[in-house]
Amino acid sequence: DPVLRLAAIEKTYKKGKPGEVRVLRGAALSIDPGEVVALVAPSGAGKSTLLHIAGLLDTPDGGTVEIGGARMDTLSDRRRTAMRRSALGFVYQFHHLLPEFTAEENIALPQLANGAARAAARERARALLDSVGIADRAGHRPAALSGGEQQRVAFCRAMANAPRLLLADEPTGNLDPATSDRVFAALMQVVRDTGLSALIATHNLELAARMDRVVQLEDGLLREGAREQA
Ligand code: ADP
Ligand code: ADP
Repeated sequence: DPVLRLAAIEKTYKKGKPGEVRVLRGAALSIDPGEVVALVAPSGAGKSTLLHIAGLLDTPDGGTVEIGGARMDTLSDRRRTAMRRSALGFVYQFHHLLPEFTAEENIALPQLANGAARAAARERARALLDSVGIADRAGHRPAALSGGEQQRVAFCRAMANAPRLLLADEPTGNLDPATSDRVFAALMQVVRDTGLSALIATHNLELAARMDRVVQLEDGLLREGAREQA
């Protein structure tokens, strides 16, 4: 089974009201195990909407969402949340780390929420930090880290519960080009080493070209391949 399968996804905001906007019009996407897919979309095309639906944070008006062959759009809110915590990892353009906790604690917390023991959570946090080259930053709070380090920690937090699918929205978008390149390379190395599947939204076509496949969101549909101006 594909890790993620979206079929005929429809989403309209303000249905039947002034300002109605039909964002997704039958969007379809399938991601195989180990596949890393770039999502490129002009601003306002519905990238966030699509990522929220794939991430089980929002439900579509029509169509089906499957993870590992199981229907998600028909689950109860409770089971969908459990699935989100255990099967999905999220990384955003801005890290959203908790400022009062250290790097290690930020990565341990989602594991504790998922039922892990404290010692095991700490050990995994350390191993993840080591895998992205910042083991020595484990005890630092976010404010004491560079932008690139913060994004590495955010990535480790997304990896905390060993997700099957990583969803990322411009994960290196707020970094300068050289740092973005280095951080992206570090993240991709871990993704490849773990055989993780990923859907990564980016405006950077050079980064997109380093993924397995590029899909473009346009006119409410997903198409294979990127256009120059994306
Ligand atoms: P992107 O991430 O590609 O910029 P979004 O998915 O955020 O696009 O939004 C797509 C369109 O839907 C935009 O026109 C946006 O204004 C509109 N939109 C998004 N969320 C809402 C909402 N909650 N209510 C009404 N319109 C929305
Ligand atoms: P918790 O209560 O443990 O924070 P949630 O079920 O609220 O867990 O969230 C699970 C995952 O979904 C987390 O990785 C969280 O970052 C992400 N998430 C939750 N709500 C949103 C949201 N509105 N937008 C983006 N990501 C979200």
